Order: sequence, then C-alpha cells, then structure tokens
Amino acid sequence: MRPGIDVEVHEVGPRDGLQSIPTVFTTEAKLAWIRAEAAAGVAEIEVGSFVPPKLLPQMADAAEVVARAREIEGLTVSALVPNFKGATNGFAAHPHKLNYVLSVSEAHNQSNVRRSVQESLDDFARIIDYRNADPQLRDIVVASGVATSFGCTISGPVPVADVMRVAEGLLARGADELAVADTVGYGNPRQVKALFTELFATIGSDVSVVAHFHDTRGLGLANVTAALEAGVRKFDASLGGLGGCPYAPGATGNIVMDDLVFMLESMGLRTGVDLDRLLEAREIMETSLRGEPTHGAYAKAGPPKGFVPASAVAE
Ligand code: ZN
Repeated sequence: MRPGIDVEVHEVGPRDGLQSIPTVFTTEAKLAWIRAEAAAGVAEIEVGSFVPPKLLPQMADAAEVVARAREIEGLTVSALVPNFKGATNGFAAHPHKLNYVLSVSEAHNQSNVRRSVQESLDDFARIIDYRNADPQLRDIVVASGVATSFGCTISGPVPVADVMRVAEGLLARGADELAVADTVGYGNPRQVKALFTELFATIGSDVSVVAHFHDTRGLGLANVTAALEAGVRKFDASLGGLGGCPYAPGATGNIVMDDLVFMLESMGLRTGVDLDRLLEAREIMETSLRGEPTHGAYAKAGPPKGFVPASAVAE
C-alpha cells in the first residue's frame, strides 16, 4: 500500500467492465481512460485479460495495453489470466501483477474455465512454478481471484468451508494475494463480515486480501463497509460501475469506483484519489461507450456542502 493511504482501491473496469459490454474500446481509448484514472490517484488498474481473442475480442490488445500502461509512473498494472496458457502469455507481457481466477463453486468453475476446482488449483501451482523457474519473471506478483465466494448462479449458496479450503489451497501453492469475489452480487453485509472474519482467522491477517463486489442487488457499498469492519483494506471497483458478468446473465457491473471513493473519503479513510479528477476520467471513459449505461450517485449529485475528502486534510 502507498504511504499515506488507509484504503487501496483497484480499478477493474478495463477488464471486468469491458468484457461484458458489446462495444470494443480501441487501444487508445483504453489507454486514455487508464492514464486519466492513474492521474486521479488510483494506484492499481487491471488493464485486460489474456484469453483467446475469439472468445473476447475486447481483450485482443491486452499485451500492448499492458506494455503501454507500464509506462505510467507509479501505476501498478495487473492483468487477468484464466489458465496456464493465458498465464504464459500474461507473463510474456510482464505486468506488475497477474490475477488468476477460479470459482469456489464447481458448477461455476466448469462453466467459466471448463475444469474442476482441483484442476484449477493444479494449474495455479504450474503457474507459480513457471514464474519461479524464470529469474526474469520473479518480480511479477501472482494473485488469485476466489470467485463465487458468496453464492453462485448455478448452484446457489456456496459453503464458507469451501471458500476457506480454496483460499488455503491457493496460498499453499504460493499465491501472493487473494481477491475474494462476489462475482454475481449475492452477498449481504452480515455474510460478508462473517466470511472475511473467518478468512483472516484461517489464513492470518498478514495475507494481502482484496474484496471484489458487484452491485447486482444494490448491496455493493454496504458490503464494503462490512468488509472494512472485518479488516479488509483493498477493494476492486469500476469507474461508473461499467459492465457486468458474462457468466451471470443480466448482472450489472462492479461497485461504482466514484461512489466507493466518495464513501471512503467521507468516512475519513484516505484513498489517495482525487474525486474531481476521477470524474474527469469517468467522462473520458464515457466518450467511448456506445449506449452502454454507467452508474453512480456521486457523479449525478456532486459533493455535499462543506465536504472535505480525508485525502485533502493536511496531516
Ligand atoms: Zn467481477
């Protein structure tokens, strides 16, 4: 975490958002968005995913976007990989961080990456070995998403014990960070607080843990406060709440970055993000949309009278 920050926010819209809308952003449009949001103070951006272009034409330029985003001073550039093949392509592009993903739900994992949870764990071990065997790749952080941790569109409730087993399995194989995800927006605040409390009790509080919420049923920010109470200090979000989930038909997007930053800053938690510049970045992103909706209350209402963001208060 950067010095002077209480909570770290990660932008995932160029991956999670763009993969689920029909419009294909040009490479330049992605980079204009990424540059503007980095300039607003967002420390980490997931800029794409290494998947076959036939499946997701939106991500065909991932290697170029990674390379050019890496030129942005101070920005941590991450990219998603769903399997070993994607990881070898991802490593070749050399982001700062690779985000692997598997689902706790067997049915969702089969549908998403066409293998069992155990096979995905085995694949993850190969990815870690591949990085560790090459001195040139050792500076790349390898994180893993723990998808459907709060429920699954196919099999319904997901047992907490299964989430713990998968989290421990990933850490045992060398994961540097876990992103625990409510992929389809099933979680509620009580469940979120209980799960993260149990997670930290199980894996220890020194492991880097990110919470990844979707606002599918309007509980996204409530879930953030519950995760904060359990000790989570890193959150994924997308500017304007862009996107949804390709494997969860009808789902809306990630929690709204602009609303997340406003909430945290108004709670006295420094994000290091400038809200005015964040809204400028949102406008830049929106110019490339072709009718896809964006979301967010702060962008509509503006700041309350007398509002002073925590990050603007002199120490
Ligand atoms: Zn997501």
